[in-house]
Amino acid sequence: MKDFSFKLASRKHKKEDTIININGNLIGEGNVCIIAGPCTVENREQAFEIADGIKQLGLKFFRGGIFKGRTSPYNFQGIKEDGYKIFEEIKKSLGLVVVSEITSASQIPQMTKCVDIFQIGARNMQNYEFLREIARTKKPILLKRHFSANIEELLLAAEYILLEGNEQVILCERGIKTFEPMTRNTFDINAIPLLKELTHLPVIADPSHGTGIRSIVNPVGKAAIMAGADGLIVEVHNNPDQALCDGFQSITLQMLRELLKDTKAICDLLGKKFN
Ligand code: PEP
Ligand code: MN
Repeated sequence: MKDFSFKLASRKHKKEDTIININGNLIGEGNVCIIAGPCTVENREQAFEIADGIKQLGLKFFRGGIFKGRTSPYNFQGIKEDGYKIFEEIKKSLGLVVVSEITSASQIPQMTKCVDIFQIGARNMQNYEFLREIARTKKPILLKRHFSANIEELLLAAEYILLEGNEQVILCERGIKTFEPMTRNTFDINAIPLLKELTHLPVIADPSHGTGIRSIVNPVGKAAIMAGADGLIVEVHNNPDQALCDGFQSITLQMLRELLKDTKAICDLLGKKFN
């Protein structure tokens, strides 16, 4: 294998796969998971309706942004601090693992209490001092690939986290910018098997941002699992057409049920466990 500039993230440094264990819920080699939930938590009712639906399908991981890293400052920025209590309730009453984006180090004390996995958004992938600070919390981190970053740059961003002594990093392919205007991003399917070859870290796929089109989230998600992804993160909404953020790429709970059924069938085929 060619020599790359990343070290701790490489298979050379560590052969066996890193498995992230959150209260017995595993992410990593041989365990496939689906992290589902709204792009953004809008209010308690909306969050609970979606979280309840996810729980009823037997899923363990809930996603939802309360601090939104938006390209435009004029777009909805999230309910912010009002979301802490909602997450605490979702964790306590439904027992779901909560994944949410952190956008500033000042959020660490509160977010540490109500979130299980810190998501670092695509736009912060190369905010290195921020990566270091979040890494030091020793919380699991879901690191999204910037839409203009190459694979080596993603692994070098992970390296900043690993160098702080935090090995709980989940990499996320979420689509990159290409010349194609028909989709929001182009999902880089190559990244999945290549990352699995290059690194011991778990790799998940985001077919929601990777496509930007509700109707093709399922096939692209399935392709990612077939290509070796350790799981998916998908945007789900109880009323996608009215969603405050990313409704056009959010699937319904019924569509999530289909995706789950298909993912389980692929897991059987690949000899993987659905977690
Ligand atoms: C999101 O997950 O809603 C999000 C903003 O993702 P990204 O950082 O990949 O754009
Ligand atoms: Mn989104």
